[in-house]
Amino acid sequence: MSITAQNVTKRFGDFVALDNVTVECPAGALVALLGPSGGGKTTLLRIIAGLEVPDSGTVLFRDDDISKRSARDRNVGFVFQHYALFRHMTVFENVAFGLRVRKWPEQKVRDRVKELLHLVRLEEKAAQYPANLSGGQKQRIALVRALAPEPKVLLLDEPFGALDAKVRAELRDWLRRFHDELHVTSIFVTHDQEEAFEVADRVVVLNKGRIEQQGMPIEVFEHPANEFVMDFLGNVNKLPVRVEGGRALLGETGTVELPAKLFGNGASGRTDAYIRPHELDISRTADGGNCMLGRIVHINPAGSVVKVRLLAEDFGLMINVDVTPDRYKALALKPNETVYVTPKSAKIFESDYSI
Ligand code: ATP
Repeated sequence: MSITAQNVTKRFGDFVALDNVTVECPAGALVALLGPSGGGKTTLLRIIAGLEVPDSGTVLFRDDDISKRSARDRNVGFVFQHYALFRHMTVFENVAFGLRVRKWPEQKVRDRVKELLHLVRLEEKAAQYPANLSGGQKQRIALVRALAPEPKVLLLDEPFGALDAKVRAELRDWLRRFHDELHVTSIFVTHDQEEAFEVADRVVVLNKGRIEQQGMPIEVFEHPANEFVMDFLGNVNKLPVRVEGGRALLGETGTVELPAKLFGNGASGRTDAYIRPHELDISRTADGGNCMLGRIVHINPAGSVVKVRLLAEDFGLMINVDVTPDRYKALALKPNETVYVTPKSAKIFESDYSI
């Protein structure tokens, strides 16, 4: 079932929480609403769930306008950050709750709950109370409780926000698996870009009640629509440049030209260039000359890439560079050494210009 929120506007008093927002979630997709705190993510999710009424705009499930339907009639599963399990009910009864409300026959309830507890590998906890479960186990129960009545739509509000990194990663896998096995259309709210990019089929970046960009994770990552998206996705070097005749020159002296992709009309002026750490290279020689000198301040070799932090003294800039472990070994980099840093590509967004 596809979900469309069309031209949705929501005000709280004078404050505009959502400003003419349109979001489309294709049937069966797992969509992440991503953005900084206060951007309007939860408000949009609550409007889709029927827990909040928009000032204008419509919500469609497939082609049906369900804007006037109550939350209960929309048949959505909802998972919150804080498990919201019923403390006085056993795990079994928590999962069974939505089925009993819908008056499923007892045997069907038993079969469905058993099947779901098996799916999350928590059959042995059926008779326990939520207080006896870990955070990750509680959230797995919250997830299957929402899925029990076979909703066509699953909405999750920061579902893993309260959990530590390892359990979070594990639950992401669960979510992805459930989503694929149970053929629901899911929307989840997160402010964690890594989580959104790892799990979602589509990402919607919301900021100050407006959509900055929406698309597949790879599109958004490789072609950010503006400097907000570029910055929000993290891990980016922001370097002051002068743009002259379509060329981007670093610093006052203009000795280093960035291989920048200029978005907009390429007018001259001062602005910032954005370069991701993997878009810079380190070398021992000034091959070709279009590079800066950098003194290595810190090296973090733990992980699949080696993170090198350098000070480009000529420009007064701290620069982060990611190199492969092989390249790191070949160069035998050490703190305090001075090396050459070459930008391989950069992005410049026109709206940031000051002439
Ligand atoms: P977070 O990641 O912090 O949850 P969010 O992107 O989900 O943020 P929302 O919770 O949708 O943001 O809130 C958007 C804005 O609307 C915030 O500035 C918030 O203070 C405001 N807001 C939300 N609900 C209400 C309300 N019931 N009354 C007044 N203002 C509200």
